Amino acid sequence: MSTPLVFKFGGASVKDADSVRNVARIIGLFPQRPMVVVVSAMGKTTNAFEEVVGHWSRNELELAKEKIGAIRKFHFEIIEALFEEPGAVKSEVQELLHQVSAGIDRTDLSFGEAYDFIVHYGELISTKIIAAFMGTITPTVWQDTRLLVHTDDQFRRATVRWEETTTAIQNRLDSGKVNVVQGFIGATASGKPTTLGREGSDYTGAVFAFCLGADSLTIWKDVPGMLNGDPKTFENTTKIDRLPFNEAIELAFYGASIIHPKTIQPLKKKGIPLHIKSFVDPAAEGTTIGGVERASPEVPNFIVKKNQALLQLKTKDLAFIAEHHLSAIYQLFADQGVVVNLMRNTATKAVFCINHDPIIVPKVMGELTDLFDLELVSDTALLTIRHYRKEDEDRETNGLDILLEQRTPDIVQFVFKQI
Ligand code: ASP
Ligand code: MG
Repeated sequence: MSTPLVFKFGGASVKDADSVRNVARIIGLFPQRPMVVVVSAMGKTTNAFEEVVGHWSRNELELAKEKIGAIRKFHFEIIEALFEEPGAVKSEVQELLHQVSAGIDRTDLSFGEAYDFIVHYGELISTKIIAAFMGTITPTVWQDTRLLVHTDDQFRRATVRWEETTTAIQNRLDSGKVNVVQGFIGATASGKPTTLGREGSDYTGAVFAFCLGADSLTIWKDVPGMLNGDPKTFENTTKIDRLPFNEAIELAFYGASIIHPKTIQPLKKKGIPLHIKSFVDPAAEGTTIGGVERASPEVPNFIVKKNQALLQLKTKDLAFIAEHHLSAIYQLFADQGVVVNLMRNTATKAVFCINHDPIIVPKVMGELTDLFDLELVSDTALLTIRHYRKEDEDRETNGLDILLEQRTPDIVQFVFKQI
């Protein structure tokens, strides 16, 4: 078997009938088989299913069913635009949505289990449509990722069990065809669907590339490649042509949203390069991550992480903040899933810049309030500049209401109040 090509297409690249046709056109440019095509849910479908989960959790079953109806309509319109005889694909999608409706009537599921059960249908539906459409052009097989990606049962952030996953993927891959698989999802040993965390389809791409020992993974995006800042936030961005794995991991850590942070590790382990290419201009070069020592061009990187909170803890008796305080705080954060993006401690205070999760943060504060005086500043954001120069820093911080600043020779970070 020749080495498989692994492609990943996100929600934006399959958001309507024209974009599905474009995906098929791109696949048509690459005759090499086997090919694995990892696909996300169409457009904003995962958000729509999250609303269904919200209704389910508040026992608003009528509203949940209405939302499912809207999801059906959205997909049916795409199917009708794609197929001359849409009947067969429509009934497959209809059947999947029946399963969702049956699921929301169940009362025996935990929140996480119900979330994964409901939300994972986004990818099942999108891949059914795309596999059927690809099948009209080239030999294609729809594969069920729940039989391929084996995970533990930490719902909403499941961990891949590599051995079982590698065996399943290697055994089940159809070597002569385009294998269309769902990103983002997996299943437990007992077959319960799980998800790998929001935006997790990039990571699924890396899982397939790793398990198959692919030559590369290509993630197709609506941008020309990896830029040195999000063009929605920063002016005059530059495309990075090549980037070492380590730098990509760092950028993802600081919040560069172009790739899911977990994506790089498996690729780095096997030295599998990651290409980020434009689905609008597939002939353009894009960005390649891996296989180089230094970035080219070497430019500063600008990253803003929004939706942050600054949590300040002060000892009640003005005792020094000591190691035992910090270790207890971090233990609590780890147990509850608090993401710390920056921290600073002084004699009697510790300040954390954390992701402002509306459920977790109040819970954690409730547990800390006996020991510390707490202060929370919400509506903040974290700006990180790597390889900064004075002029970049001055330009980007001009007019910001800066609450905290931290600097090393290579990286400067500012927590600022969002207006
Ligand atoms: N559909 C999932 C999400 O929107 C996974 C992904 O797109 O990567 O989070
Ligand atoms: Mg997505």
